[in-house]
Amino acid sequence: MKPLRHILAGALGAIMACAAVQAADWNAPQEPFALYGNTYYVGTGGISSVLITSKAGHILIDGASPDGPKQIVQHIRQLGFRVEDIRYILSSHEHFDHAGGIAELQKLSGATVLASPEAAKVLRSGQPDKGDPQYINLQPLAPVANTRAVRDGEVVKLGPIAVTARFTPGHTKGATSWTWRATEGGKTVDVVYADSLNATTADGARFDGNPGYPAARRDLERSIATVAALKCDVLVSAHPEFSGLWERKAKQPQLGNAAFIDRDACRDYAAGARKALAKKLESEAKG
Ligand SMILES: [Zn+2]
Repeated sequence: MKPLRHILAGALGAIMACAAVQAADWNAPQEPFALYGNTYYVGTGGISSVLITSKAGHILIDGASPDGPKQIVQHIRQLGFRVEDIRYILSSHEHFDHAGGIAELQKLSGATVLASPEAAKVLRSGQPDKGDPQYINLQPLAPVANTRAVRDGEVVKLGPIAVTARFTPGHTKGATSWTWRATEGGKTVDVVYADSLNATTADGARFDGNPGYPAARRDLERSIATVAALKCDVLVSAHPEFSGLWERKAKQPQLGNAAFIDRDACRDYAAGARKALAKKLESEAKG
């Protein structure tokens, strides 16, 4: 059994809006820190960004909001790495709180940006998809250069790093989670960067029965099952607080990076999302 507070944190996180409503703390300051092995948290206090490092170059996941790069760049340097050594930037989903900073980070690094085909379309053009559940509330993104679409299950390789794309659509059409393995002190763990799984809509818009995205409900149900089934020791969700990252980090001084290991984390995150989706569908059924 998981402590109740973990389950509640997951459920609350899944209910909370993402992107539609400007959260004041997207740019909250945050010191960078090691997660496990070659993997570091370089995001802000409100939006995740993760750096996977190697001698062959680095992979960065997400760029946070348009103001995010200010912190992300500083964090990478603070950890002793070079932004110019980032070879790939991977995108979770095509909303400005996670992808708004990617254009600038791409420019600074010269990296290739990888995303699902639906997300890549939005990143390249900067224009939100009209079928997005939060469409009327979305801001355009700075268009991203050098963007390539990946397939579901595609493995992005760089030196010893291998990151797998796991499409998890529903929150948006292009939402993607990413998984890899990290080793520290002879122990190898499965790391998951899980994308948002919340059925957030703009005010007045339906999630189930959105003519611009008729498959949204089916997609999200499948994505929740996908995340629940992942091999998952260390979980970072696109919004760090939605998966208890700060609670785990609070134990880092005592436990070291083992503080981030929780084999139930993905199942809890998925369970919270399933509960929140049921609530959303129930309220939509009432009219
Ligand atoms: Zn979002």
